[in-house]
Amino acid sequence: MIEVKGLTKSFKDVHALKGISFKVPKGEVLGLLGENGAGKTTTLRILATMLKPTKGTAILSGHDILKNQQAVRREIGILFGGESGLYDRLTARENIAYYAELNDISKEEIKERIDYLTKILDMEEYIDRRVGKFSKGMKQKVAIARSIVHNPPIMLFDEPTSGLDVTAARTIHSFIEECRKEGKTVIFSSHSMVEVEKLCERVAIIHKGNIIEEGSIEELKIKYNKNLEDLFVE
Ligand code: ATP
Repeated sequence: MIEVKGLTKSFKDVHALKGISFKVPKGEVLGLLGENGAGKTTTLRILATMLKPTKGTAILSGHDILKNQQAVRREIGILFGGESGLYDRLTARENIAYYAELNDISKEEIKERIDYLTKILDMEEYIDRRVGKFSKGMKQKVAIARSIVHNPPIMLFDEPTSGLDVTAARTIHSFIEECRKEGKTVIFSSHSMVEVEKLCERVAIIHKGNIIEEGSIEELKIKYNKNLEDLFVE
């Protein structure tokens, strides 16, 4: 479903990615774990076709990121950490609809999807209010709805819980669980081994632009004598 083939990315003399390769089969949740500056965001931005690699490529649902960006974008939902990127002066519904329109979804389908997402994310009370005064948790739900409004089979989460309080982080965790149950293919980047252990079947550890370990949580536990925290010290 996702095949990353020898991705290299240099920003002038900063070699952010040094030829990484990995595969994520359909329906699997892969944790991409690494410290600050390891190359997680660069990897996910390349997969999301927001950034061009220096060398290498990736195939998502059979589409090459270098050859068919439009098709790749239709296949993916993206949820980044930090700022939600929502427009404060628009209502929650308008924010989601705006993003859906960029994805070429018909007006009728947008309405149906937003009604459905409002219900499952419990946003009825505030879906038609401007997001400017929303709490972090409320904004996070709107950002989630926006990221899946086109019902993509692949989700890319870049440190989606960074800077969030416990309640908002829980919302994200249950959303990732939900994605897994629905059979979506997920890459989820994080600094936290604890978080990755909780949510992912497999983990790839990225360090200074290289994948230094890859395997199931169980395999890595055996290899490192259960002390996965030792393997990854922030
Ligand atoms: P963090 O957890 O801090 O987000 P990360 O693992 O996501 O870290 P990246 O953001 O991918 O790491 O950065 C990898 C390296 O590439 C870092 O050394 C970073 O400074 C560098 N880098 C990333 N984007 C740029 C850019 N636009 N210009 C120059 N260097 C960059």
